Amino acid sequence: MHVFNFLIFGVQSWVVQTVHAASPNGPPGSNVFDIFDVDQSCVSRDLQKLVNEATEMAYAGSLIVNQGATGQSLPGVAYLYGLFGAAAAPDDEGTRPKDFSTLQTCFQRTLNFLAYGVQPSGNVFNGKTVKPRLYCDDSSFQHQARQAQATQLDGQLATDGNGDPLSIELVYSSDFLDFIEKNAAFPEPHLVNIPQTSDHPAFSQYIFTDRAQLCAPGRYGQTFRAQTHSGGENPVPIILLCPDCFSYGNSPSLGFSAPTYVGQSLDDFLPKGTNTFLHELFHFAPWWPSANAIFTGDPAYPQKDDLAGVTTLLYDKASTNAQSYVYFGLAAWYSLYKPANINGQSQTLVFNNGYGEILYEGP
Ligand SMILES: [Zn+2]
Repeated sequence: MHVFNFLIFGVQSWVVQTVHAASPNGPPGSNVFDIFDVDQSCVSRDLQKLVNEATEMAYAGSLIVNQGATGQSLPGVAYLYGLFGAAAAPDDEGTRPKDFSTLQTCFQRTLNFLAYGVQPSGNVFNGKTVKPRLYCDDSSFQHQARQAQATQLDGQLATDGNGDPLSIELVYSSDFLDFIEKNAAFPEPHLVNIPQTSDHPAFSQYIFTDRAQLCAPGRYGQTFRAQTHSGGENPVPIILLCPDCFSYGNSPSLGFSAPTYVGQSLDDFLPKGTNTFLHELFHFAPWWPSANAIFTGDPAYPQKDDLAGVTTLLYDKASTNAQSYVYFGLAAWYSLYKPANINGQSQTLVFNNGYGEILYEGP
């Protein structure tokens, strides 16, 4: 039975690739296997749908942000103000305009990854560009006690000069101190063994989080980057999509339904799975080499993910908040490609404040 299962899995990993049924708006999404090293845990998931939808949202977002930043379109300007708190002209206090290059760069780098397979410049291991490793559950992340004997990069157990075991908390003592300082709690170590690919050898590494179960209830995904590896940074980024993310969102797919009334919330159109997937990519793709860090985080706990939380963020937080980019991309996509059907009439809506308003064009 085991062998049989294995064969089925092997076959499915090839047929999981699907092509876009209709022409995409903008460039087509890359083949998921060209841009990710996909883990077995994803075998039953339609990842290509996520890539295709995320590509369309990143493309629509980049169009609107570029139009708004150059003042080419009033809706674009309104979007920048509504979802990022950025205005193209100085306000009463003279504190604006904002620098739009951050927003443009985040959209462009995410689109470059999704559509053109450009890996962020930080993805280098042993001089080779590496793909991120994509997981669809946390079964490969082995939770260990912090007093347990540490596993080294090469998979061997860590010992001191006398052959005595070294614990995880001793080997990673500086990472532990950093974590405790930042989170006011001990980290929970998780060991993950990354298999060999054509880009890198097999190796083992630790990920430290604030909980024993990475995909605890209410957790949808996580991106690990430069996280923990004593004496160096995590060379292969990991994107973990938790099973719950595939049922989170109010629409089965991007554009499944058109808006039907003025004031309808963007939340009604969040596509299941793609919402979390694109959120994680906004953590992953806008890598800032000069800072050697992820630029886009989740700065607005606890309400970073909900629409009201996003639309009330000021520019400095909104421009570094992954979910702000997801809502912006979704709003842009609906304004550009999916007119509302209101009382039998086709209307273009803008969602610059998160809720559909009728767009009046012309003088
Ligand atoms: Zn996040």
